[in-house]
Amino acid sequence: MIPPPPPTLRLRLDTGALAHNWRALDAMSRPGRAGAAIKADCYGLGLDRCVPVLRDAGARDFFVAHWQEVMPALRHLAPEQIAVLHGPITAGEAGYARATGVRPVINSLLQARLWTQSGGGPCHLMVDTGINRLGLRPEELGDSAIAELEIDTLISHLACADEPGSAMTARQLAAFRAVCALLPHRRASLANSAGIASGAEFAFDLTRPGLALYGGVPHPALAGNIRQVAQPEAALIAVRKLAAGETVGYNATFTASREMRVGIVSMGYADGILRSWRGGAFRAQGCALPMLGTISMDMIVIDLTAAPELVEGDWAELPYDLPHASAHTGLSQYELLTTLGRRFG
Ligand SMILES: *Cc1c(COP(=O)(O)O)cnc(C)c1O
Repeated sequence: MIPPPPPTLRLRLDTGALAHNWRALDAMSRPGRAGAAIKADCYGLGLDRCVPVLRDAGARDFFVAHWQEVMPALRHLAPEQIAVLHGPITAGEAGYARATGVRPVINSLLQARLWTQSGGGPCHLMVDTGINRLGLRPEELGDSAIAELEIDTLISHLACADEPGSAMTARQLAAFRAVCALLPHRRASLANSAGIASGAEFAFDLTRPGLALYGGVPHPALAGNIRQVAQPEAALIAVRKLAAGETVGYNATFTASREMRVGIVSMGYADGILRSWRGGAFRAQGCALPMLGTISMDMIVIDLTAAPELVEGDWAELPYDLPHASAHTGLSQYELLTTLGRRFG
């Protein structure tokens, strides 16, 4: 069999920007260090492409959410570098952590007992300081199940760090400090991307940026310091002429008011370009090329008036500056990354 031709859509990754973002966040994490959240296939950008870059830039501590994310991470990392945020809820999961050598994040008394019963060893401990998602309540920390743990990193997670000046963030910082004074641990870790931007007092020993590594700007203090990493691009698979009065796409929502040249780009909502992108524009040869009509599963129609030289096989890019794209679509910067589809080359 001959190999298939290259895809007509691609996700260009600026690995230099990814390394730059990690280094910038690491510098902001002093006197601690920055780790890296690599869950959800590095926020949709591809673990195999991103993790070696982050590792080679200097990251040592990596966070996945699911046990299924361990094997892909082990292709690039030593097991003790990998923390599994969801922790074990079955003996099978605890046994898997023991067998692979990855570190579970213990999130409850049940998980603490399960881990000790499975043989235990170094683990991380998540304490809930107000987000009420995963983690032990501070009043549970005196339980004997916790005393038996060998705690590497004591972790908590901020709920409102992307709202500068939030009273919740100040309360969580105070609560986390109190917990750190109470429990023996090797390292402490509180800040996600927005937490890093909230001030040096949030750095502790280790920070856990995710979004900002991949180009997101969840806090104004990061603006100017973070570079765009992901750039979706698609080929023009057709070029056609519309006569005045003709319509475009499903439900005929765009009507040409004059004769015009349009292009069909090979990218649609199945690739994560959801219908909330409506009214946006692609870019090619320095020109904005407005989207016309409804976004289809595999195609978007664009106005080629500004770039009359474009022909089939040429490429156009969808501007993917995350704060800007988020403002346009109403999708969060996290969603804009993690919903990108699997057809990109
Ligand atoms: C996802 C996650 C992070 C990374 O958060 P960002 O906002 O993407 O920087 C850090 N810590 C925990 C516990 C997480 O679940």
